[in-house]
Amino acid sequence: MYDLIIIGGGPAAVSAGVYAGRKRLHTLVITNSFGGQSVVSNDIQNWIGTPSISGFELAQSLEKHLRAQPDIQIEEGEGVEKIEKKEDGTFVVSTKSKTFETKTVLIASGSGRKRLNVPGENEFEGRGVFYCSICDAPLFGEKTVAVVGGGNSALEAVIDLMKYASKIYLLHHGTELKGDPITQEKIKSLSKVEIIYQAETKEIKGDGMVSEIVFTDLKTNEERTIAVDGVFIEIGAVPNSMFASGLLEMNKYGAIVVDARTQATTCKGIWAAGDVTDIPYKQNNISVGDAAKAILNIYEFLHSR
Ligand SMILES: Cc1cc2nc3c(=O)[nH]c(=O)nc-3n(C[C@H](O)[C@H](O)[C@H](O)COP(=O)(O)OP(=O)(O)OC[C@H]3O[C@@H](n4cnc5c(N)ncnc54)[C@H](O)[C@@H]3O)c2cc1C
Repeated sequence: MYDLIIIGGGPAAVSAGVYAGRKRLHTLVITNSFGGQSVVSNDIQNWIGTPSISGFELAQSLEKHLRAQPDIQIEEGEGVEKIEKKEDGTFVVSTKSKTFETKTVLIASGSGRKRLNVPGENEFEGRGVFYCSICDAPLFGEKTVAVVGGGNSALEAVIDLMKYASKIYLLHHGTELKGDPITQEKIKSLSKVEIIYQAETKEIKGDGMVSEIVFTDLKTNEERTIAVDGVFIEIGAVPNSMFASGLLEMNKYGAIVVDARTQATTCKGIWAAGDVTDIPYKQNNISVGDAAKAILNIYEFLHSR
């Protein structure tokens, strides 16, 4: 029986593993891979203490830090498929081929970005196609960029890009933007932003790097092409929380609801941290901090029983 099972291998899970190691909790980390979402990033410039690091190097350093903890066991390869709560309040955590018993669980399984699934998206990912404006907007100084989406994350991407890009097209599938009205008003008043409604993205083209975005104008059914240096796809994220459904409260997007003071979920004995939760800002540093907070609370929980 473990004291704690941590699910994930990104910044949140690794932070949790390091803190659990220092608290000498008998811990198992289960992950299908190490590094988390920003592993695809060429240059991360806001990982505190490191002015510039690639996603790949960040993944390596996270794994190294976790493996340096003598008391932490690691199961890498198979993801968690199910968590069951037993009558005595402990848990059974299952992957495809194994089951493990634990007193507490920390879910740090992050999220995946919704993809457009259009030609060129995979080919140009990291070479003009990006999914994180906070992270990658600075690459577009005096450049022309398209943002695809119409909700809050797309609007925030436009705001992030405003400081850098010379022209921003916002391509939205619907007839009205969906995000926060104040941000909508702000964006509509900006002269370098052009909103194209009823635009269905069809393809991203380029030659080594992105050079064009192709979309159908649903008002006329005509295909249009715009020359751009980059495309930010901001159509939402999907939390990796399916294996916990039915056990604890999630919001309508499947993000796990947590108490922001402790990271506790609505299921006693389960905590969550990082992008899988309903916290508003999704960043490496925030995931790491929230996971540390969770472990300190889990430690108190285990020692007050
Ligand atoms: C392209 C891109 C670039 C980014 N750049 C930056 C940046 O420059 N700066 C910044 O601060 N933030 C950046 N972000 C945001 C940042 O990556 C996330 O906020 C952060 O990775 C969240 O960490 P996490 O540990 O909560 O989840 P994740 O990073 O999503 O990690 C989740 C982990 O859980 C594992 N996992 C998933 N499902 C299961 C399962 N069922 N069982 C076991 N393991 C599972 C995954 O393999 C992964 O290891 C970027 C995001 C993207 C998409």
